[in-house]
Amino acid sequence: MTQNPKFVILLGPPAAGKGTQATRLSEHLNLPHVASGDLFRYNLKNETELGLQAKAYMDRGALVPDDITIAMVLDRLSRPDCAAGALLDGFPRTLAQAAALDKALAEKGVAINGVLNIIVPDEVLVERVTGRRLCRTCGEPYHIKFNPPKVAGICDKDGGELYQRDDDNETTVQNRLKVYWEQTSPLIGYYQNTGVLVDIDGNQDIDAVTEALKAAVINL
Ligand code: ADP
Ligand code: ADP
Repeated sequence: MTQNPKFVILLGPPAAGKGTQATRLSEHLNLPHVASGDLFRYNLKNETELGLQAKAYMDRGALVPDDITIAMVLDRLSRPDCAAGALLDGFPRTLAQAAALDKALAEKGVAINGVLNIIVPDEVLVERVTGRRLCRTCGEPYHIKFNPPKVAGICDKDGGELYQRDDDNETTVQNRLKVYWEQTSPLIGYYQNTGVLVDIDGNQDIDAVTEALKAAVINL
C-alpha cells in the first residue's frame, strides 16, 4: 500500500534546534529533510547566481525576498524524492511563503499534515547561536558547550571539518530574532487556524525534544 504524501514543517526561531531535530525526525518519518538555509548555503558555496543574490540578505540576518525563496524551495519539492512528502525546516518564514506552499500542495491534492512549533526563550537562543558549529560536508549542527563533537572540530558522522557560520554572531542574531518576531511568528496563528499546529518545548535537552517531537507526529 502506498502511503499518502506527508508534509511536516519545523517552525521556530533561529537556533531553536530545527536542524538538529530534523536529522533525527527525517529518519524517523522516512522523509527528506528540506532546509531552506541549507539550500541557500549550498548555492553560496557553489557561487551560483541564486547564492550571490541571497548573500547580502543572509549576511545581515534579513530574509531573502519571497519570490527567490519560494521558487528555490518549490523546485526542491518537485524532485522525485519529495513525492512521498518532506520535512520542511526554515520554510515557510513569511505569510506569503506559507500561502505559496499551500497553493503548490493543493495543486497536487495534498496539504500540510503538521507544524511543529519549537519554543525557546530569546536569551537561550543567543547562546545557542554563538556556540553553534556545522560540518562543512554534511551540515550537521554541533554546539561547543551543549552538543560537542567527540573530537573537537571534527564531525562525528563523517569526519568533516566543523566551521562557524558567518551570520552566527551576536549582532546578526539580534536582527534575526527581530525578523523572526516581525515576519515569521504570524505563522503560528496562521497554522493554528488550520488546526495543524503543535507546540513543542524546545528548552529541554536534545533527546527530550526529540521524544516530544516523535510523540507529536504519531497521528499525522
Ligand atoms: P537559522 O539557523 O537562523 O534558522 P537558516 O539556516 O534557516 O537559519 O537560515 C539562514 C539565513 O538564510 C536566514 O537568516 C535568511 O537570510 C535565509 N533564509 C533561510 N530560509 C529562508 C526563508 N524561508 N525565507 C527567507 N530567507 C531565508
Ligand atoms: P536551527 O536549525 O533551529 O537554527 P540548530 O539545530 O542548528 O537550530 O541548533 C542551534 C544550536 O543549538 C546548535 O549549536 C545545536 O547544537 C544547539 N542545540 C540544538 N538543540 C539544543 C537543545 N535542545 N539544547 C541545547 N542546545 C541545542
